[in-house]
Amino acid sequence: DSFSDPQLGLNGRLLHNMNKAGLQKPTPIQRHGMPQLVAGLDVMCCSHTGSGKTAAYLLPIINSIVGEASASRSVDKGSSSSSEKTSGAQPTALILTPTRELAMQISKDANMFGDGLPVYSFAVFGGQLLGYELETLKEGRVDILVATPGRLLHLLSEFDVLTLGKIQYFVVDEADEMFNRGFFSNIRNIVDQFLIPKVSYPLF
Ligand code: AMP
Repeated sequence: DSFSDPQLGLNGRLLHNMNKAGLQKPTPIQRHGMPQLVAGLDVMCCSHTGSGKTAAYLLPIINSIVGEASASRSVDKGSSSSSEKTSGAQPTALILTPTRELAMQISKDANMFGDGLPVYSFAVFGGQLLGYELETLKEGRVDILVATPGRLLHLLSEFDVLTLGKIQYFVVDEADEMFNRGFFSNIRNIVDQFLIPKVSYPLF
């Protein structure tokens, strides 16, 4: 019943940042959800705003990205083979949200938890300056992309600054609200860009 439980295997710097943010003891959704996410399972969580659901998925994602970064560094041993040519951002985590306010808040939380760690989050959403988003994405340093669906599809279809080919972690935050707002086909279009379906899933 603690974030430093070895079963969770959370990075020391991450624990420090959480402590600084006032997260000392896991909330119920964190206690139940985090071990499943750390184990690599697909999880559907339902809980109220303020119950700690954002951290419940952000912490395992950040921890896993940091773990993979240090594993690949030790394999590389600093060789130049890692300087793969990239065109724009190739995030490993994608978080979809129904509103720009939520997108901004999640990205801010991710950067706070990831402070001092090699994990960078960026939010794209309708209403933000497109030029600013294009410049940041072109630089390519985005591990966690937080996006509203319409803006993400716009960026993917009109510009060559972003690919979803490396996505390993996918979150639909406030999924009920996403469906209420009619984002289902947008989500399908986005998911189709990185998920190779093993089974055909029904359209409804
Ligand atoms: P949510 O909207 O469900 O993600 O809740 C977010 C709020 O809960 C934020 O203000 C967090 O800082 C706070 N929070 C998340 N986890 C904890 C925790 N384990 N202990 C105390 N506060 C927390």
